[in-house]
Amino acid sequence: MASEFKSLNVAVIGGGLGGLSAAISLRRAGHKITIYERHSFVGEVGAGIGIPSNGSKWLYNWGVDVEAGKPVVANRLIIHRWDNGEVMATAPLGDSKEKFKYDTLSFQRCDVHRILLDTALSKKGLGIPCKLVTSHRAVQVEAELGKVTFENREVITADLVIAADGIHSKMRSAIGITPEVTQASSCAYRHVISKAKLDELGLGDICSSEAIEFWTKPGMEKIVIGCAHGGEVICVYSFFAIDPSKHEKDGWNISTTPDQLVAKFPTLDPRVQRIMLHSKDIKVWRLYIHKPYPYWTRGRVALLGDAAHPMLPDQTQGHSQAIEDAAALGLVFSKQYFHGNSNQNLEAGIVEALQRYEKVRMKRAAAIQDASAKARDDLRERIGWVQKA
Ligand SMILES: Cc1cc2nc3c(=O)[nH]c(=O)nc-3n(C[C@H](O)[C@H](O)[C@H](O)COP(=O)(O)OP(=O)(O)OC[C@H]3O[C@@H](n4cnc5c(N)ncnc54)[C@H](O)[C@@H]3O)c2cc1C
Repeated sequence: MASEFKSLNVAVIGGGLGGLSAAISLRRAGHKITIYERHSFVGEVGAGIGIPSNGSKWLYNWGVDVEAGKPVVANRLIIHRWDNGEVMATAPLGDSKEKFKYDTLSFQRCDVHRILLDTALSKKGLGIPCKLVTSHRAVQVEAELGKVTFENREVITADLVIAADGIHSKMRSAIGITPEVTQASSCAYRHVISKAKLDELGLGDICSSEAIEFWTKPGMEKIVIGCAHGGEVICVYSFFAIDPSKHEKDGWNISTTPDQLVAKFPTLDPRVQRIMLHSKDIKVWRLYIHKPYPYWTRGRVALLGDAAHPMLPDQTQGHSQAIEDAAALGLVFSKQYFHGNSNQNLEAGIVEALQRYEKVRMKRAAAIQDASAKARDDLRERIGWVQKA
């Protein structure tokens, strides 16, 4: 006789894009999810994020209201000359749907976060609505017991712990991984400007074609511009070379002024310099190269997203790889594949499922980490990049 499916109590540590993706996927698979977030609120910044078809596929699959996030379908890549903006090459993206059944979507990060959170907590849709607990910073985990201790001294025990606590993951060190990290030889500013402001400046033609546009020259400097929020917001990433031996301050909230931003790019196309001068929400984004970790799971704990495989942004795969992690967890813990169905073999079933998770995900994520680092150095390494004059 087939034994009954055991619905697990799952603790997701981290309410970022990766943690929410995992919460939705495991909810859909029939489990009870509590998301613990260190901050007193959950939210995201206004910068842009691209979700290619390997990620957008799962958003639709999980029943996320993608359109409510006002995505822009990115239809092509355009490369401009650094100093005068002349178009040097283009490559199509608009055929993603034709090739892979799903579009490449450009969002504002806060929009994706909102639609994922709504889906996770909603009473509508398959599975039990997830619970969200804020102001809970996890500081320790006992992997074999699934026991998590928070800074406020609260302790919880879960059947399964998903550590989605980002690039500086505490849970990762708690399961014995010490990352081999080097600072990348470049760094980025991320900033936004409204389409209305662009029109007012007479620069409305930039991004009018729903393309992802690059300004490049030999070296590390690169500007990436894409539309989001139904085309109303233009998100810009401005990369510049740094001396990696000088350890500069890190954090998501280090700002700069428009004048200082422009001063970093003295030879850049003057139109893009004007965009910089009128940009808002300018924040520094430090970039790190992590060597792939030797394992992702211990006992009842699994790493996911940036906690498992931080990567440089140049293949636009950071969130999509976290989505793939989440999708894989949803499958290995599904009614079809999860065999930890009674208290006697529950632990063995969880360990077996997590081994499968590592098997299907680690190699692929490591290859994409590597491909992302290569594309940081040379844009032609971007997957799918075929130059068309
Ligand atoms: C500016 C920027 C632009 C990006 N652009 C793209 C892009 O275009 N395409 C793409 O695919 N990817 C992009 N990425 C990467 C992508 O956002 C991440 O890879 C993806 O969101 C996965 O993140 P995560 O949820 O694993 O980690 P994070 O987004 O870092 O979320 C971690 C969450 O855990 C919480 N947390 C941390 N520690 C604890 C703790 N101890 N206890 C409880 N909670 C904790 C944090 O507060 C946060 O909410 C970008 C990243 C950044 C920063």
